[in-house]
Amino acid sequence: MVNRRGKGPWWVTAFRNQGLRITEPRQAVLDVMQKMSGHHSADEIFFRVHRLYPGIGLATIYRTLDLLTRLGLVKKHDFGQGRARYELITKEAEHHHHLICEGCGKVIDYNDFMNEEKTLVKKIEEVLSKKHNFKIKSHNLQFYGLCENCQKRR
Ligand SMILES: [Zn+2]
Ligand SMILES: [Zn+2]
Ligand SMILES: [Zn+2]
Repeated sequence: MVNRRGKGPWWVTAFRNQGLRITEPRQAVLDVMQKMSGHHSADEIFFRVHRLYPGIGLATIYRTLDLLTRLGLVKKHDFGQGRARYELITKEAEHHHHLICEGCGKVIDYNDFMNEEKTLVKKIEEVLSKKHNFKIKSHNLQFYGLCENCQKRR
């Protein structure tokens, strides 16, 4: 798959499959999210995009983030901080779990799962799907607590 701009071929495919154009706001949001990496609120993304493209407003950012979420390019998280945080799904960062610091809001991604963790999650999914006759397609695992810095601060 050739991308004229030479960036992010995986999202070019996703847009093409849906017959959608890569408009300036869409490209801008994806570019900015790729540079920032991690998990960011719509406001933070807007702030970064707006500096480069002053014509793009917050409403457009929200619409774009919704679209990208529907396309599966972005994951919308609720870390219990009163506002959604968006994460670009890249090939490198596909499936991971989160450690969320309730002190400073820091979010740690990890995918170096322990074998026990993989076995346990698989087991839980098996039991739950049987018990509730529910076909589980994915899961979202988050642990809440205090990061190293916040533990030192108390
Ligand atoms: Zn998992
Ligand atoms: Zn912290
Ligand atoms: Zn993450």
